[in-house]
Amino acid sequence: MPHLEMEIGPQSNIAELVRDLPIAEEVLGRFGLHCAGCGVNKYETIEAGAKAHGLRIEPIVAALVQARLSGFVPTISNEDRVPLRRAPGEFKRHAKIEHVVPIMSGKGGVGKSLVTALIALGLRRRNLRVGILDADITGPSIPKLFGLRTPLLIETDPNAKPMPQGNAPPLMVPAQSRSAIEIVSSNLLTDQEDTAMIWRGPILSGVIRQFYEQVLWSDLDYLLIDLPPGTSDAPLTVLQSLAIDGVILVTMPQALATMIVRKAANLVHQLKKPILGVVENMSYFIAPDTGNKYEIFGPSYAERVAELARAPLLARIPIDPQKAKLADEGRVEEIDDPICDELAGALLAAIEAHPKPKETISII
Ligand code: ADP
Repeated sequence: MPHLEMEIGPQSNIAELVRDLPIAEEVLGRFGLHCAGCGVNKYETIEAGAKAHGLRIEPIVAALVQARLSGFVPTISNEDRVPLRRAPGEFKRHAKIEHVVPIMSGKGGVGKSLVTALIALGLRRRNLRVGILDADITGPSIPKLFGLRTPLLIETDPNAKPMPQGNAPPLMVPAQSRSAIEIVSSNLLTDQEDTAMIWRGPILSGVIRQFYEQVLWSDLDYLLIDLPPGTSDAPLTVLQSLAIDGVILVTMPQALATMIVRKAANLVHQLKKPILGVVENMSYFIAPDTGNKYEIFGPSYAERVAELARAPLLARIPIDPQKAKLADEGRVEEIDDPICDELAGALLAAIEAHPKPKETISII
């Protein structure tokens, strides 16, 4: 039954629209706006969704209006569906990345990647433009959380000066998640000729730097960097060589983890970079049947770690099998949990408390 009376415009909220006009989900899906079915879209307008995905708004609104009137999904031309790409000369334009925030942990398996994803979701739900650089090269799990498999497109700037070896440097086009989070990860590279070059120097830190520089990032409000665990060379290089705002430390409640996280905190302090805050993951478990709280990994050390790090405790995240399941199935964006907003809010407050020099960072 067509809903003739409904107003559809750039400011229409996607979630409300889909609720009142179910066919809108299919129409938006045809434009690649698959976020219509996930939790991220709850607060998003059509205009914000289109902008985040690099699409023109007019054809989307027109298609929605047509679908409302006819009850059918109209034919959508290819050019309206393809995100606006950079024009050749645009390769020269430097993306503006306002804030760079690495997420660090003393050791692996504390949930650093999941925490990175939850922060990204919280920021996106505030309509901020977000990218994730998966620098955890030895165990890159970010694409899996977001259900991304397609290898990154590699482009060459037609106007670039050739390098001494002959070719212009290849540039990676970041993958886009369903809610338009830009993602670059070693998991999204193939061993085709184009990408072989990116790996020529087998030095991890160099690869991470390339993920930063040789990527056609959009202008972003936040670039989150999922660092390799520990205090090896690779995280060190990121901390030293990129103009970061500060680091988020992820820990979990174990005495050993506390010791390791202290080492990581010391390293950050030695490099004179701020620690924006500490997140204690897998802090406790609330039994769904009784509501009882269990400290599965032992008592929380969150306050102590925060003290050692001389940084605020941003959040304590409980063990939650539902989050683990969605993450495991590549549906992390469907996590609809206040913790995302809590993390984003705490990060924004921490950033405000640590203003970095006013210039923005320019990369390719
Ligand atoms: P890291 O990046 O620190 O190595 P991951 O983010 O890959 O850790 O998490 C390791 C595993 O623990 C994953 O299977 C993840 O889904 C799970 N996990 C992380 N945080 C939680 C949590 N709060 N509740 C339940 N499972 C979690």
